[in-house]
Amino acid sequence: MKFAADLHLHSRFSRATSRDMTFDVLAWWAKAKGLRLLAAADFTHPEWFFLTKEKLEPAGNGFFRLRHPQPPAEAGLRAIPFRPDDVHFILSSELSFIYSKKGKVRKIHLLLLLPDLESVEKVNHRLVGIGNLRSDGRPILGLDTKLFVRMVADLCPRAVVIPSHIWTPWFSLFGANSGFDAIEECFEEMTPFIFALETGLSSDPPMNGRLSALDRYALVSNSDAHSPSRVGREANVFEAEFTFKALVEAIRSRDPARFLYTVEFFPEEGKYHFDGHRKCGVLLSPKESVARGDLCPVCGKRLTIGVLHRVEELADRDEAPSGLRVPHRNLIPLNEVIGQACGRSAESQGVWDLYFKFIQEFGPEHKILTEVPVAELARLQPEAVARGIDRMRKGLVRIVPGHDGEYGLIHLFDGQDGPEAGAGQLSLF
Ligand SMILES: [Zn+2]
Ligand SMILES: [Zn+2]
Ligand SMILES: [Zn+2]
Repeated sequence: MKFAADLHLHSRFSRATSRDMTFDVLAWWAKAKGLRLLAAADFTHPEWFFLTKEKLEPAGNGFFRLRHPQPPAEAGLRAIPFRPDDVHFILSSELSFIYSKKGKVRKIHLLLLLPDLESVEKVNHRLVGIGNLRSDGRPILGLDTKLFVRMVADLCPRAVVIPSHIWTPWFSLFGANSGFDAIEECFEEMTPFIFALETGLSSDPPMNGRLSALDRYALVSNSDAHSPSRVGREANVFEAEFTFKALVEAIRSRDPARFLYTVEFFPEEGKYHFDGHRKCGVLLSPKESVARGDLCPVCGKRLTIGVLHRVEELADRDEAPSGLRVPHRNLIPLNEVIGQACGRSAESQGVWDLYFKFIQEFGPEHKILTEVPVAELARLQPEAVARGIDRMRKGLVRIVPGHDGEYGLIHLFDGQDGPEAGAGQLSLF
């Protein structure tokens, strides 16, 4: 079966998340987006894990489904038909590790996938003595990640540990401020247990392909969503049996017949692609900041070093070798395309109304962005939406890169091909 999966997001019990992060709302959004599998998130949090067991039931494939789906309040979502097996959940949680190793403070996020509730109980039971699981859906543990991996491997050999958003500056495996330069420095003898890495929004597979050290790892992409409408903004598409076991094997294999492709942002859109200082209004490419000794030309302090810079630092080749095993597609969320086509905020009500019209007419967002012919999309007004999607598919996108925690700015329509231009413009491309 072909299915799209988003393996990393957060419940309303994680810091800075939407109150709407509930199982019903998430399930309906997953359906709207075209996701078949979604992270159940935050299973280390006692209250959220209680809700997980109450709201979800085992589906018999290592995944879970809603026991009694409750249509959400939002009218656009409610209108989408939903059956309990339309969307399954996978037990997946992120943990934050802050510890000192070789004289340096390390801050690293790891994603943990588990096959059953018993494994969650076992892991949680161990973690209770190590950190405060109640304080945050993504708890902070003062534990060396290597010891954590060993503990998990002992408790549950089928568990999967995936380093999260491996390039973000503050909380990641390769983070410029508190990470490592090599995977082995971090996990030592437990390194073989790790077989997949999450690229994060600010990097994509070609950037990661510049490190030969990553060649043996599967690269996965997930939304890390903090609000429901953002699930699936990055995701993984598989052709495999719909079970925990087959999913894990498909990732591990990196076989393009089973792991079809990843859905990626244009990496420039991520919050840490370039270097800079948001407050100083400074945005620099890695080359420019190197020329300035990584110091801010406005305040003189050290710049926030972005993902591209860090990749440059660790890369041992200029370009990823051709024929990366799992292909990828750079997509822009549909509400953003509509927002640009209408000259309105991507989060405005009018844009969301139009968004659900497109979903009603053509099916899930993922299908609209990747499959539905442009000529067909042009049936719905404003026709600039179809043109925007066409431009996105062709990579005709101008992006002011994200930096220092600020998302990049996408310009889908530049110059003559503005949203107000006529349909005839299409032929120019
Ligand atoms: Zn994280
Ligand atoms: Zn996260
Ligand atoms: Zn500055």
